[in-house]
Amino acid sequence: MGLASKIVGAVVKRLPAHGMDRAEEFLLPRRPFEQLQLPRPSAFTVVCDDGETKDLEIVEVLERHGVRGVFAVSPDLIGRPGFLTYDELRQIRAAGHEIAFHGTTHDPFTGFADAARLKAAIAEGLAAMAEGGLGTPGTLIYPYGRHSRQVRATVAPTFSSAFTTWFGINEGEVNRYAIRRIPFGAYTGKLPANEAWYRQLIDRSAGGACWPTLMLHPAAEGHTKEHNALLSRLVEHAQQRGVAVRTVAAHMTIGMAAPGAAPAAASGNSTPAGGAVSGLAGAASDMDRKRA
Ligand SMILES: [Zn+2]
Repeated sequence: MGLASKIVGAVVKRLPAHGMDRAEEFLLPRRPFEQLQLPRPSAFTVVCDDGETKDLEIVEVLERHGVRGVFAVSPDLIGRPGFLTYDELRQIRAAGHEIAFHGTTHDPFTGFADAARLKAAIAEGLAAMAEGGLGTPGTLIYPYGRHSRQVRATVAPTFSSAFTTWFGINEGEVNRYAIRRIPFGAYTGKLPANEAWYRQLIDRSAGGACWPTLMLHPAAEGHTKEHNALLSRLVEHAQQRGVAVRTVAAHMTIGMAAPGAAPAAASGNSTPAGGAVSGLAGAASDMDRKRA
């Protein structure tokens, strides 16, 4: 057993939900395919999980401000009662929003017996989405946020980035296949999650090389009409602070190709664990235990 594994083992015993996976990601070095230096211009991204009909309210909020969001769907759930249909998703996509992949069946990727079975399940879902006119998603939103070192290696050839439920604002250098999110509405756990707190996260991003990404579950109990109004104000605030509100695909393309997108590490912006804010890990783990 190597030293790194021993350390991981020792830390895991003291960690809550996703403990082993978090410890691995934090302690073991990022492999080359996982390294992502965020571009200098920050972005603010809104991701809705699960593709439920309530997402249409978020579409409306975003479009009122002329911006686009990300809608993560599980092909097996499309068209079920309460979930968006292929026709609705095609319209959302045609309006410029991004449709991301959220697992074929919404089963956690860490629960597959081996990489081959996970790959086969992903291929099946992607084929269904392509056939349904939703294109080939480049963005993966892990079901329940679950992923591991092994899962990241398995999904990397298929997706250009992947997002978890782990809390963080993403700053400087991040793990491309473990990009953090900030819960909004439902599943905020012990986070302050008030308007001032969200505004301050956006303000902090205005300095550059940050990528605060909201995680929404608009159909979940914790998400209210007031959250839609607050989202509207936050989008406005980001725009006023010069933080572009855009999809993952747009930020990965525009951001990485932008001239003058100097590495932020040079300015000392880099923080461990993808910019995870210390002292809030407990809140995030509470959230991970719930549905995401
Ligand atoms: Zn989900």
